[in-house]
This record gives sequence, C-alpha cells and structure tokens, in this order.
Amino acid sequence: MTTLFEKIIARQIPGDILHQDDRVTAFRDIHPRAPVHILIVPNKPIPTANDIADMDEALIGHMFTVARDLAQREGISESGYRLIINCNDHGGQEVYHLHAHLVGGAPLGPMLSCA
Ligand code: AMP
Repeated sequence: MTTLFEKIIARQIPGDILHQDDRVTAFRDIHPRAPVHILIVPNKPIPTANDIADMDEALIGHMFTVARDLAQREGISESGYRLIINCNDHGGQEVYHLHAHLVGGAPLGPMLSCA
C-alpha cells in the first residue's frame, strides 16, 4: 500500500517541499508543533526505525546532512533544534514511513513528558 508520504514525494498530493534529491525529500509538517517543523523522509518507504537495514546506513546519514542544511537555511542552527524519530505505538508514530522531525525556532522545553 502506498504511504501518504510516498504520495507527497511523488507529488501526487500537495506538500510544501523544501528539498528533494534522489534519496530524501523534506517538506513542512502540516500541523507544525514549533515555528520550524520539517519532516525529512527517505524516498523509499521504510516503515519504522526497526526496519532500517544495514544497507540503509548511508541513506540515514544523508537524512542527517539534509537536516543540518535545512536547519542552516531556516536560521535555527545556532539557536538550536531537535531531531526526532518516533517509532511504533509508544513512540507516537502516526505515519508508517520513516521520517525525522526537524523542530526549532523557539525553546522546545523538556525533552520528554510521560507519566
Ligand atoms: P509521526 O507521529 O512521527 O508519525 O509524525 C507524522 C507527522 O506527519 C505528524 O507530525 C503530522 O502532522 C504529519 N503529517 C500528516 N499528514 C501530513 C501531510 N499531508 N503533509 C505534511 N505533514 C503531514
């Protein structure tokens, strides 16, 4: 089944795409939780962090360099930001196509809140 993010990557449905190359696409989150909230997504649909294969190491590294460059472009490199990957139910994952959230632009508060 095609994931929502595959449809954005293929430009079948709208997305505010900030970066796209042969491995990774980055677009603004539709419900931003911070002034800057960008999703960095591998073009191939890896469902969760559990499904990252050894052969994906370079791809995952590329997600980080894209995040670094976007943070620079968005002007949040020096003030700081957070990169988040949610996995499965307890991680709060909603879309089962691996993605890193790049969030920043304001103080983000404590890293976690859980009971
Ligand atoms: P997660 O909970 O880590 O799976 O995050 C999924 C994220 O996808 C949420 O922050 C949603 O707001 C975001 N999202 C859902 N649909 C879209 C969409 N069509 N375009 C951009 N972001 C989306």
